[in-house]
Amino acid sequence: MLNRRAFLRTGAVLPLASSLHAFENTVALAAEPVVANDFRLAVLPPRAAAPDPSSQPWQKRVRRVGQTNMTEHDPAVMDIEAWADYWHSAQVDVVFVSVTGILAFYPSKVPFHRHGKYLNGHDFFGECVAAARKRGMRVVARMSPDLNWEDALSAHPEWAMRNQDDSVQHSSEEPRLFKTCMFSTYMDDYVPAIMREINSLYDVDCFYTNGWPPLGSLPECHCAVCSKLPTSGTPAYWRVFTDRVLDLWNRYDAIAEEKKSDSFYFANSGGNVRGGPNLDRLGKTAAWFQADNQGRTYREPEVWGCSLQGRVCNAVLDGKFAANVTAAYSTGTPGWRNASKNPAEARMWLNETLASGMVPYFHFVGAENGFDEDRRWQQVGADYFRWTARHDAHLAPVRSVANIGVVIGQGTQLLYPGPATARSRSYMHETTQGIYDALLRGRFAFDFVHEDRLEPERLAKYRALLLPNAAMLSDKQCRQIADYARAGGSLMAGFETSLYDENLNRRAEFGLADVFGVSKAADAVGTNGNPYYARIEASSQPHPILAGFSDTNWSPGAENRVPLKSIAGPLLTVVPGFVRYPPELAYPPQSHTQEPAIVLRESGASRTAWFAGDIERTYWLTGHGDLLRLLHNTIRWITDDTWLVRVDGPGFIEMFCWETAPGYAVHLLNYSNPDAQHGWLQSTLPLGAQRVAMKLPASVGVRSVELLKAEATVSHRLEDQVLHFAIPAVDDSEVAAITIS
Ligand SMILES: [Zn+2]
Repeated sequence: MLNRRAFLRTGAVLPLASSLHAFENTVALAAEPVVANDFRLAVLPPRAAAPDPSSQPWQKRVRRVGQTNMTEHDPAVMDIEAWADYWHSAQVDVVFVSVTGILAFYPSKVPFHRHGKYLNGHDFFGECVAAARKRGMRVVARMSPDLNWEDALSAHPEWAMRNQDDSVQHSSEEPRLFKTCMFSTYMDDYVPAIMREINSLYDVDCFYTNGWPPLGSLPECHCAVCSKLPTSGTPAYWRVFTDRVLDLWNRYDAIAEEKKSDSFYFANSGGNVRGGPNLDRLGKTAAWFQADNQGRTYREPEVWGCSLQGRVCNAVLDGKFAANVTAAYSTGTPGWRNASKNPAEARMWLNETLASGMVPYFHFVGAENGFDEDRRWQQVGADYFRWTARHDAHLAPVRSVANIGVVIGQGTQLLYPGPATARSRSYMHETTQGIYDALLRGRFAFDFVHEDRLEPERLAKYRALLLPNAAMLSDKQCRQIADYARAGGSLMAGFETSLYDENLNRRAEFGLADVFGVSKAADAVGTNGNPYYARIEASSQPHPILAGFSDTNWSPGAENRVPLKSIAGPLLTVVPGFVRYPPELAYPPQSHTQEPAIVLRESGASRTAWFAGDIERTYWLTGHGDLLRLLHNTIRWITDDTWLVRVDGPGFIEMFCWETAPGYAVHLLNYSNPDAQHGWLQSTLPLGAQRVAMKLPASVGVRSVELLKAEATVSHRLEDQVLHFAIPAVDDSEVAAITIS
């Protein structure tokens, strides 16, 4: 047990007792995270063997990626030397240069590879490659296989995506372009022809396709090939979609290798927890995960959108390379593709990229505009990249430090339509944001876990697994989760978790019924006015998950619930929902039931908690502090309040901790900002001191703790292997880099 008085006191930090007292008051008033009680610090795992750089593929040494996304007009106006000088001055290791497939940026002879109208026979691509090479930068040959022109359509009507009435699907912005079908020979013949032509003419390092495969959703095509496939949006379609993506991926990889053995192919990826292809399978194939999460959108306005993507990559890549694209231009709707976005917003996205373990990649569209009309993005990117270059060793992660795994449920995210009481494509988005927000506010150290990666050796690092409405789980996955609990792991789940198998077939009983000791009594119940309440049973002994609930006999439940059969001695019972308006009728006709709102179990070291309701999503929709408190208390109870890294201090932050080659890196991202959930950051609001504590493995000492943003060293103390230090202030982010001895 950590003695609170054992924290280091520095001149920059308030005396601990008074600062904690102040924070406790904040907790009581604002239902903020419960962090004031005593807790356990677990020793960090033995350090992983440092990777041998000489055995790693070249892309693992890439720390900065740059792209001026070329337009048709650029060959007429772009100053190639200025373009190359800029990226070289920003110390990028690799640049993207457009080959494309919509418009050729070189004198292509591949039929239907239309030359851009300003190309005029020039070898624009080749000149760019030469300019990059001259400066020691590697080159990604960038293609776009998703659209082509009317002449190609006339010759190859089978290349087009079709609507149900057989009409051709066109670009929504440029009707002369049709959408190409990924199951057609366009992908089998046309794309390889361009790749082989590039291989024959140029020395590039690898190939990339933009715009394919689709992210976060599945294509819907009714062409002759696709009409023989399973219906889009079904589990069966998802499997053939993934099969096709990976089949093409492997074939394109082989074509890349025809030129150089260390060349490879990679495609558009991202889509965070939804992904596109099965991310477990993609992770095993991809040499480079290109996270095309360029910025916040109206539909996904959460400030942590990039970090969330990084956690997805960490779940499926086993340490392989991932880069996340930061749009230097204005993302969202409407979005100006050729105007710089707010610098604070761009910098936060880059901060999140690094913090979550990915490589930063800066991107602006159009050299003509980017080097002439609007040049503001250049300084933002160059300054950021030069800062990272000074600290590369500390910014390259080896392994995450986390003791909580969150099962992302990619199948559920993509295919589950929501419960019958709340059908919505955004249902799982809201669920994910709810648990994410709660974990951040609690400052828990967590990883994402893919449902196809539940092997015991992967789960062994986690004290607990959270399954936020992981509705679709196969029998095998249910068994793996049960085995994890039998081996002493803890679990938190609820609502429709495991109510469906991997084919979206509904089970009569939860697949995880036995391990949680729950049984379904009825189908999901929604809300007609007042959602249900959770009654705190008078007979229940004080339980840690009810800490902080006083002066009330009940708390809010959730918007929807799956009723459970009664159990002995429930801690919380359901008061069924009732009318909200008119207020004359706003009282519970049935004020007390035996229906459990939560079911807790304890067996050896394993603790499990099952919520009847969709509490994570309801917390996201309402922000109700009781739901946040219940989630925090429950996570703390199932983990036995055990922490690997502890960061205490004011503000709403996201925390990552990594093992690095020199030691450890603790990243803090400051989301205490009125623009955290809408629009873009206008500026930053610095936070006060954050106190960090972590227990290092035996015989690991500490040489220094350096703050990479402040570029200053801070004092530290190592006592009984517990490292203490304070970060005096956090502007938009800070990285505490610990060099061990
Ligand atoms: Zn098709």
